[in-house]
Formats: sequence, C-alpha cells, structure tokens
Amino acid sequence: MQNVISTALVWLRNDLRYEDQLSFLKASKSGKRVVAYFSFEPRWFESRQWGFRKIGSYRLKFLIDTLAALQKELESHNITLIVSCNDPSENIPVWVEKLNADSLYFQKEWTREERDTELRLRKNLPHNVQLFDHCDQFLYHPEDVSFDIDRLNNVFTAFRKKCEKFTSIRPLLEKPNPLPESNKLKEKFSLPTFEKLNSIPPESHPYSAFPFKGGTQAGKERLNYYLWETQKLSVYKKTRNGLLGTDYSSKFSPWLANGALSPRMIYWEIIKYEKTIKKNDSTYWLIFELTWRDYFKYVSLKHGNAIFRQKGILEYEYDWKSEEKTIAQWVNGKTKEPFVNANMLELKKTGFMSNRGRQNVASYFAKDLLLDWRIGAAYFEEQLIDYDVHSNYGNWMYVSGVGNDPRDRKFNVRFQAERYDEKGTYQKRWNQNTLFE
Ligand code: FAD
Repeated sequence: MQNVISTALVWLRNDLRYEDQLSFLKASKSGKRVVAYFSFEPRWFESRQWGFRKIGSYRLKFLIDTLAALQKELESHNITLIVSCNDPSENIPVWVEKLNADSLYFQKEWTREERDTELRLRKNLPHNVQLFDHCDQFLYHPEDVSFDIDRLNNVFTAFRKKCEKFTSIRPLLEKPNPLPESNKLKEKFSLPTFEKLNSIPPESHPYSAFPFKGGTQAGKERLNYYLWETQKLSVYKKTRNGLLGTDYSSKFSPWLANGALSPRMIYWEIIKYEKTIKKNDSTYWLIFELTWRDYFKYVSLKHGNAIFRQKGILEYEYDWKSEEKTIAQWVNGKTKEPFVNANMLELKKTGFMSNRGRQNVASYFAKDLLLDWRIGAAYFEEQLIDYDVHSNYGNWMYVSGVGNDPRDRKFNVRFQAERYDEKGTYQKRWNQNTLFE
C-alpha cells in the first residue's frame, strides 16, 4: 500500500455523510488521493463512573448501519473508508505514514474528551501534516452570527431572535469533484461485529417510535416521507407533543446527531416545501426546534466543561442525592409514577423517547427524586439512539435548574400524564407490555 502520491485523509466523526460535507468537498479539491477514516473508539465501550457506557446497543446499531451505508456510497465515488477500533490519536498517525498523507480534514468537536483526543493526535502527527478543521454541524454557522460567542445570551429567545434577524443559512455545499477509480485503496475494510465491540445487538421492538435505519439515504427517505409524501410537516406544531407512533414528530434527530443528515439539508427542504405546498406555524416550528439544537451547541461553546459539572452553567448548588436503588427504579420503570415508568420502559426497550417524555422523566429524576442530574444524563447518553452531547447535557441542565431555563420549572408528572395521555393508552402500552421481558 506504500504510496508515492500524497493523500488527503478525511477523519469522520459526527459528520457521517458524503453530500453537504465540507471535509470531502475540500479534500476532493486538493488534487490528492482522498481516503476516509472512522474509528469505533475503545473508550466508548468502557463502563464509566455510574456504570453506564458511552454508547449502548441501540445507537451502536444505528451507527453501524450508518457506516455500512456510507462505506457503500463512498465506494461508488471511488473513496475507501478505513474502519478501525483503535484510539484515533494513535491510529491516524499510522495511516498517515502508510498513505503518505500530508493533510487531515475533520469536523471540530470542542467537548472535553473529543478535544483531548484531537490534542493527543496533534502531538502524534508529523509536522508536515496540515490540519483543516471546521464547525459545520450548525444551522447558523458560528462565523456568520452577529454576536460574540462569549457573550451568548443565556436565554434562548434572545439568541433565536438575533439569528433570525441577522444571520442567513448557508446554501448546500456543491458536490465534490469526481475521483478516478485509482483513488481507491486495494485493501478492503469491514465493519466490526457487536461481539468485537463487546456489545450485544439490540432486539427490534414492534412498538418502537423509531424503527428506522441509519445512513443518509434512510434519512432522506424519512425527510421525503415526513414532508412530501404525508405532509405531516404541515401539522407538526399540533402533533409534536405526542407519545405514540412514528409520526407525531419528525424523528430526524438520530440522523442529525451522527451527521448522516445536515441541518441545512433539512432546512432547505422545508423552505422548498413552504414555497410549493404550504408555509404555516408548523413549518416554522420545525426550524424553531432546529434552532434549539444550535443553541445548545452555542451554550457548550461558550461554557465549555461547565455543562458537565453538577452546578451547571448557573453555578447553582443543590443537595443532590445518588442512591443506587432509586436510580435503578427510575432506569427500570419501577417508580411510583406510571407515566415516568412508561417512558423509561420505552427508552430501555427501544432507545427512543419523545421530547415530552424526556422532559418529564428528567424533571422527575432531578426535581422529585432529587438525584444528581448528571447520572440521568449519563444513562440517556448510553441509551438514546439520537444522543448528542450538546442537546443532551443542555436539556438536562435546563430541566434540572442549572441551565438555561429562566423560570426553573418543575413538571407535575401526573398533570402531564392527564394532559398528554388522556386515555392512558401510552402508559398501558409500555407498563402492561410483556413482550421481550
Ligand atoms: P422534532 O420534534 O421533530 O424536532 C426536530 C428537530 O429539532 C429534532 O430532530 C432535534 O434536532 C431538534 N430539537 C427538537 N427539540 C429539541 C430540544 N429540546 N433540544 C435540542 N434540539 C431539539 N435531542 C437530541 O437530538 N439528542 C439528545 O441527546 C437529546 N437529549 C435530550 C435530553 C432531555 C432531558 C430532553 C428534555 C431533550 C433531549 N433532546 C435531545 C431534545 C429532544 O427531545 C429531541 O431532539 C427530540 O425528541 C427528537 O425527536 P424528533 O427528531 O422527532 O424531534
């Protein structure tokens, strides 16, 4: 595999797509051989402080599906995807040498562990390797916003209004230059099995609200279904607090979380829909929710590691508990609140939970059981198919009274159950479901 031509290596992280993907676009313009790299990092599979892993079986399956689809797509563009199970900070330099790579393209991640990996990598790379990083996971690009990120307002509405008034969404990126067949490496790379990753494949559940597959194509099909085929987008604002089925909300989050879809791809499709089908408060509301997603990324850009601290970004001290038995009851849907239990069982058995459910179980955890919110967040991190560090920790802080909620509310879960599950159908489904016990 020794090369004389130089290589542009694309290190994939949470940007697992080929189109509207800045690393591929820039690398393809470099005139060099383009090779992609992804690693299932060993640290994701270690048990952590509270006994949870960073990645549980639902997200792992979605990730493997995503990479299988991407590998195939890249192959059709004559790009090889190297798949590794090693620490990228040590393994990328090995590939850099083998492939005679002199440039590395990647999406910047600024949270602590991701940044540490990048810093170790930088130390291990030869000096002649040029690094090109960028922040392309946003709807409103950080280079385009009208304010200094250090002065980000702690209230979402102020942020949203500024973005809507002063910042345009960038157009979709052009398609990368086609590459010749000789761009491919001779070596083939297969994806690891669950066993190799010390994990157990999840069972699919007939009641899952997220029965979809990973990968850009599957994400585009969902986008097409939700907008064009069914026009569910036109009623999103009315249905988004639902609990049952696949269609009460868009379910775009897992594809957004690992980057199989970019927020721009969704945004511009909504604009097209508004121009041809209908523009109403529902079409706006989906963009509004994507703006929340951005907001939590800005919050973590501004506050750094504070988003992982018990006192959160508000530096509020509470007397948090961490009693194992109470945590296990919450995790296993065995609290005294049937609405909380139903949601926790759904999460445990499918890797998904509605936004309404998440707000309630998180509020119950932090404000009724008075348990350290970071433990709940760590469980969500392991379990959620759509886990996104910024949205997860941002929302947990918000609900727990250490984040961006100026009103510091507590959810009355009984009242919420009466309002959003009037007939108790959702609670019956999960609390009485004996499938897969
Ligand atoms: P839709 O209602 O269709 O919304 C469209 C998109 O807008 C979503 O895909 C998502 O990207 C974004 N969005 C919607 N609501 C929020 C929100 N409150 N915060 C940030 N973005 C939002 N979302 C994640 O993507 N990953 C997480 O790890 C995550 N953890 C959460 C933890 C808690 C405690 C809470 C209360 C919420 C969390 N959310 C998280 C936000 C929200 O619950 C999910 O984004 C949403 O339920 C995903 O379903 P959907 O795609 O059908 O959403």
